[in-house]
Amino acid sequence: MAETATIDVAIIGAGIIGLSTAFKLQEAGRTAVLIDRRGIAEETSRGNAGAFAFSDVIPMATSGVLGKLPKWLSDPLGPLTIRPEYLPQITPWLLRFWRAGWPDRVAASLKAQSAMMRIARSEAEALIATAGLEPLIRRDGVLELYESEAELRNTARDDAAKAAEGIEFRHVRGAELAELQPSLSPKITAATFIPKWQTVQDPYDYAVAIGRAAMDRGASFRQAEIVQLRPQDDSVILELGDGSALRARQVVVAAGAWSHRLTRPIGDDIPLETERGYNTTLPGYSFDLRRQLVFGGHGFVVTPLASGIRIGGAVELGGLSLPPNFKRADAMLQKAARYMPGLVTTGGTQWMGFRPSLPDSLPAIGFSRRSRNIVYAFGHGHLGLTQSAGTGKLVANLLTGAAQPIDITPFSPQRF
Ligand SMILES: Cc1cc2nc3c(=O)[nH]c(=O)nc-3n(C[C@H](O)[C@H](O)[C@H](O)COP(=O)(O)OP(=O)(O)OC[C@H]3O[C@@H](n4cnc5c(N)ncnc54)[C@H](O)[C@@H]3O)c2cc1C
Repeated sequence: MAETATIDVAIIGAGIIGLSTAFKLQEAGRTAVLIDRRGIAEETSRGNAGAFAFSDVIPMATSGVLGKLPKWLSDPLGPLTIRPEYLPQITPWLLRFWRAGWPDRVAASLKAQSAMMRIARSEAEALIATAGLEPLIRRDGVLELYESEAELRNTARDDAAKAAEGIEFRHVRGAELAELQPSLSPKITAATFIPKWQTVQDPYDYAVAIGRAAMDRGASFRQAEIVQLRPQDDSVILELGDGSALRARQVVVAAGAWSHRLTRPIGDDIPLETERGYNTTLPGYSFDLRRQLVFGGHGFVVTPLASGIRIGGAVELGGLSLPPNFKRADAMLQKAARYMPGLVTTGGTQWMGFRPSLPDSLPAIGFSRRSRNIVYAFGHGHLGLTQSAGTGKLVANLLTGAAQPIDITPFSPQRF
C-alpha cells in the first residue's frame, strides 16, 4: 500500500447516522473523514418520512403486528409484503423476528429503546441548537388517525408507552379533529394528537446541513466504495473499490443496509436485512396539509415537507438487489386519496429506500469482535433519523473512551 497520511476516524457511510456521528466526533475533538460511494445522504436518509418518532419505543415484532401478518401478507400491495423470490433468504431473519415478539424479549427491548430515545431526543435538541438547524424543524405535532373507536382502543399499549415517557398526547374527535386537519374523509372518526411531535422540513436538507456543520468543524468527505476492512494492531486498513487503500486509526461502519457486507468478513455475521419502503412526493398544492398524518392501520404516513407532500411507508422484504415495485407507491397514494378527498395525486416523484433492520428493532452500536478500533453503527430500521444524534454521541463516546449515559449492552452487535 502506498502510504498516505493516517486518517483519525474514517466513517463509512454518509447517511444520517454517519453524518451525525461525524458531527458528534468533531465536537469531541476528533477528526472525521466521511467516505461514501454515492455522495452525502443519497440513499435511505434522503427520502424518508422525516419524523422524530421519539415515542415509538415498541418493537415491530409485537403480538399486535404478528397477529395482523396473515391479513397484511394476503394483500400483495398492502402494508407488508415478502417478495416470493426472497422468502428463502429472509426466513432465518423472520424466525428471529418472531422470537423477538415473545413477552420477555419485548420487555427488554422496550426498556433499551426507551433509554435510547431519551438520549436521542436530548442529543438531537443539542445538535439542532449548536448547528443552527432550527429553521429545518417543524414542531406542529402529528395526528395518528383511526376509523373506529375500536381501533382507537387498540392503541392502549402505545398510549401507556407514551405516558411512561412523559410524552404529551390526547385523543381528538369531531370539531377538534377537523380543526387540526380539515377535509379528511368522515371515515376517520378519531385520532391521537401528539402536539410536540417534530418533523424535519426535508430529511435530505437536514442530513446535508449536518454534514455541512460537521465539515465547518473540520470533518471532510471522500467519495469512494470500501470493499474490505483489514484490522491491524493500532489501526485499520480500508481497501477501496479502485484498488487503492487508506489507513485510519479508527473506523465507524455506518453503511446502513449494506453494513453486514463489511462486518461479515471480519467475523461479525449480523442478521441485518432491509425493510424496503416506498413513497411519492407530491407538489405542495396537492392538499391543505396542516401537520404529519399517520394512517397506522394502512402502514403509511403523510408528511408536509418544504418541497411538497410525501405519502408512503409500508414494508417490503425483498433484499438489496431486486428491482423496486412502484405499484406499492401507487397503492398508498390511491389509499390516501380515499381518506383525503380532493388530494391531487398527479405530478409526484416516486422513491424507494432501504431501511437497515435487525429483527429486534434495536440498532447495532458497539465494537467489532476483531478490533476495538472498529465501531458499528447501523440497523436503525424505521428510526434512523430519530436516533441519529443519539447514536452519534454513543459512538463518539466509544471512540474517545468517555462514559456512556445509558447501558449500551442491549445494542451489542454480538447479541444475536
Ligand atoms: C419509506 C421510509 C420512511 C422512513 N421514515 C422515517 C422517519 O420518519 N423517521 C425516522 O427516524 N426514520 C425513518 N426511516 C428510516 C431511516 O430513513 C433510516 O433508518 C436511516 O435513513 C438509515 O440511515 P443510515 O445512515 O444508517 O443509512 P443510509 O442513509 O442508507 O446510508 C448508508 C450509506 O452507506 C453508503 N455505503 C454503503 N456501503 C458502502 C461501502 N461499502 N462503501 C462506501 N459507502 C457505502 C451508502 O451509499 C449510503 O449512503 C424511513 C425509511 C424509509 C425507507
